[in-house]
Amino acid sequence: MKIDNTIYFDFQATTPVDPRVFEAMAPYFCTQFGNPHSSEHSMGWQAAEAIEGSKANVSNLICSDPDEIIFTSGATESNNLALIGLSKRRPDKRNRLLIGSTEHKSVIAVARKLAKSYGMHLELIPVDRAGIVDLDYLAEKIDDTVLAVSVMAVNNEIGTIQPIKEIGQLTRQYGVFFHCDAAQGPCSIDIDVYEMNIDILSLSGHKIYGPKGIGAMYVRRDIVQKIEPLLYGGGQQYNVRPGTVPVPLCVAFGKAAELMQDQHIAGERCNIGAMRDLFVDQLSKLECSVYLNGPPKLLRHPGNANIQFAGVSAHDLLATLQPRLSASTGSACISGTTEPSHVLEAIGLSNEEANSSIRFSLGRFTKEENVNEAVELIKTTLVKLRE
Ligand code: PMP
Repeated sequence: MKIDNTIYFDFQATTPVDPRVFEAMAPYFCTQFGNPHSSEHSMGWQAAEAIEGSKANVSNLICSDPDEIIFTSGATESNNLALIGLSKRRPDKRNRLLIGSTEHKSVIAVARKLAKSYGMHLELIPVDRAGIVDLDYLAEKIDDTVLAVSVMAVNNEIGTIQPIKEIGQLTRQYGVFFHCDAAQGPCSIDIDVYEMNIDILSLSGHKIYGPKGIGAMYVRRDIVQKIEPLLYGGGQQYNVRPGTVPVPLCVAFGKAAELMQDQHIAGERCNIGAMRDLFVDQLSKLECSVYLNGPPKLLRHPGNANIQFAGVSAHDLLATLQPRLSASTGSACISGTTEPSHVLEAIGLSNEEANSSIRFSLGRFTKEENVNEAVELIKTTLVKLRE
């Protein structure tokens, strides 16, 4: 994908809205604009029907039932609501949170806040060089004093796919809630919340070719009452997330979810994976020493290539590449700060190695010619930097 003169290799930061998604949402702004909670007229019924259809699409994506889907503003809100909501209604004896050490900041920062101000104890689960959580550590630490385990489906920086089903088996054994941040999940893997024993799952619209500002939380039907809301007022969405639901955004999210289940999705993942492999192979032939941080290709997000350019400042490389190639150092939420990536640190990289690493991420609209051009750009920029 090339926008004007810029090759876009940052699909894990955000995806463009798929034109089919844009088309599906358009009528809900100016003509079918009813409030889905207006239960006394046809415009309201029409909107409510659209919401039900969207819930069905989102639930199909993760193999849940539609009434287990709660719309939120995105995965950040879903993650906050899950962990804060559970902690505020916890039984006295369950005061521990076990959190993956490479989780997104919207999980780690919340868990830290809960530890600081709400009497919870936070323990980070270590990961190996590939970023995979240590299941033996988890098995050793888990018991009936743990309230929740939170481990993401797929990492946003190094693309690691976690052993979600195995974690779900452990949590279920001890009656511990399993929260999974699956914002980056659908582009990489098929998700089945029942088979994986997931109790609460977070999703984000703008990681799956939908718009920003919409996400969802799957909550297992029988535990909805165990979550204290973050907002009060209105009775919408089982009182867990009150407020008028944004119909165009929900419809768009539903359409994006539907496209993620299309028969071509396996082929799409394969295609993106092949282009990512080509990109990594071509980079490895450059004169600079180049390493792929994180897991082997089969255990990672198909579009993710987190690359270490030995001895090169990632910030300088990216800055010099502007405006020709979009990619990130760290995740978009922390890039631009001087803080080293906690993900790269957790997998054992030194500060120097982390500071020479760039996350490239390819997606649905990437073409092979973009890969070839990006490699050429990086090659000439490295030469320029050396001079
Ligand atoms: N979790 C993960 C793994 C993510 O990659 C992101 C987005 N960077 C989020 C949560 C936050 O999602 P949102 O932008 O929808 O709040």
